[in-house]
Amino acid sequence: MSQRELKDLKAPVMEVFSSFQGEGLYAASPQVFLRLAGCPLRCAWCDTPGSWELAEGAQARVRTTTEKRSEPAWASPEDAQRWIDEVDPTGRMTVSVTGGEPLLWAEFLLALRPLLGRRRVHLETAGAHPESLRRVLQACDHVSADLKLPLDMGAPVAVGFDEEEASPVSHEDWRRSRLALLGLLRDRDACGKVVIAGGHPAAAYEELFDDVRERASELWLFLQPATPISGAPGPTREEVERLAAAAKGRGLRARVLGQLHRAWRLP
Ligand code: SF4
Repeated sequence: MSQRELKDLKAPVMEVFSSFQGEGLYAASPQVFLRLAGCPLRCAWCDTPGSWELAEGAQARVRTTTEKRSEPAWASPEDAQRWIDEVDPTGRMTVSVTGGEPLLWAEFLLALRPLLGRRRVHLETAGAHPESLRRVLQACDHVSADLKLPLDMGAPVAVGFDEEEASPVSHEDWRRSRLALLGLLRDRDACGKVVIAGGHPAAAYEELFDDVRERASELWLFLQPATPISGAPGPTREEVERLAAAAKGRGLRARVLGQLHRAWRLP
């Protein structure tokens, strides 16, 4: 990529703010969140549907300790770095890049990484685009990836950005992308999250647990009871306990952890 192309590289930023991480291996740690717009996937229990597309006239919300202001949504890596430094002037907080699906913006992420200096960079991804993940792995200190149940997924939707990697559609597609994803996460600073919805057959999760055991048996696996949103039911306590036992019975490093930021009413 030429210097000119790198200079013109932009991604749609929805918001930059600091809060506590609510999910996964680094739950409860303070982080700066950089939320990028755009997601072609359609999870039944999505808690950020507003991030699927960049709304007409939308602007980036930047929340520092002293002000909330709007900036043009299409931001260069330098813009994002400047806003991150304003949100955390210490230069030490981890940056969690989230979405939407940040892997739509692989080149932006690669260009942003060196600008962030000693900060750790954590990537929160749906894990459905392993080739894009392979490209940005070098730029990530930690990857927190969803392991999706195909039956939770609606048909993917083109959201108007250049999507370089097709999204999974069929059960087989999802299985293939999951196995590729797990191969990439093996032996890395990474975790997998499995949203547990209510009323699903245990076998659907057990197939997923078997894949983790086969490809990345040391991966931290967080079973995350779905926060009832958009009519998607949460699981019963018995369902969660049964699935936790099924994961642990396979020798997996499984933990049950709900969305802390929802419980604490944090952004
Ligand atoms: S991948 Fe994330 S943003 Fe996309 S639909 Fe699923 S939960 Fe929502």
